[in-house]
Amino acid sequence: MTHPDCLFCKIAAGQIPAQVVHQDGEAVAFVDINPQAPTHLLVIPRKHLATANELAPEDEVLVGRLFRLAAKLAAEHGIAESGWRAVVNTNRGAGQTVFHLHLHLLGGRPMTWPPG
Ligand code: 5GP
Ligand code: ZN
Repeated sequence: MTHPDCLFCKIAAGQIPAQVVHQDGEAVAFVDINPQAPTHLLVIPRKHLATANELAPEDEVLVGRLFRLAAKLAAEHGIAESGWRAVVNTNRGAGQTVFHLHLHLLGGRPMTWPPG
């Protein structure tokens, strides 16, 4: 389930420190080390999935929980009404650098469109 060389598996396991804002049996959320907005959290499953391409039918409930957790955290951080963006970069061409599925939760400033 966890991948020995994976940074985010290690953060989820508490082996590498992070500013954790939520954790439960399935998911962990923490502050991005290089924030791109006043609020920039990463929401990850404890289960190691390298990219969204690896999602299986059995992961559908998990993905729903991650998304709902993002909405809850957006509310807790005061950006539910002003606006927030969920980003899942998938593979290098989309900017993915850490190969453990994660949802970027960004807000607290005007978000432009299209994203870069
Ligand atoms: P990606 O580019 O894969 O979509 O996003 C990876 C994100 O992880 C980046 O925004 C990067 O700043 C963040 N990140 C990389 N290493 C660490 C770390 O050790 N701790 C934390 N909190 N965030 C990290
Ligand atoms: Zn992992």
